[in-house]
Amino acid sequence: MLADNIFLKIINKQIPAKIAYEDDACLAFHDVNQQAPVHVLIIPKQIIRTHDEVGTGDKELMGHLHLVAVRLAKELGLGDGYRLVINCKEDGGQSVPHLHMHLLGGRPLAWPPG
Ligand code: 5GP
Repeated sequence: MLADNIFLKIINKQIPAKIAYEDDACLAFHDVNQQAPVHVLIIPKQIIRTHDEVGTGDKELMGHLHLVAVRLAKELGLGDGYRLVINCKEDGGQSVPHLHMHLLGGRPLAWPPG
């Protein structure tokens, strides 16, 4: 995984991103390398490096990320469906060490993933 956390720099507005949604707890922005017509990353502002670091104290935050995904899916026209993906660590294909949920849609998505 990358040593530097690019997403913290995006949260702190040190590097630009096309922001889709922001509140006190999370930020959503369009992925720089779109894998579908809609590809947004939803991230907590709190530092959680990987999905397996999520604990019982994060229940509300994790639920919040899902509700933001529902809201964005509606706003971005994904009425025909979409996919939420959280890659965890090396085998999961995680490349940025800051928890993030991919919201993908706008075309039929194949299954299983690679
Ligand atoms: P992962 O592979 O860790 O699940 O997903 C990381 C995602 O972050 C990738 O889809 C990658 O394209 C995206 N990404 C990496 N660096 C940046 C960046 O600087 N800006 C934006 N908008 N997306 C990024």
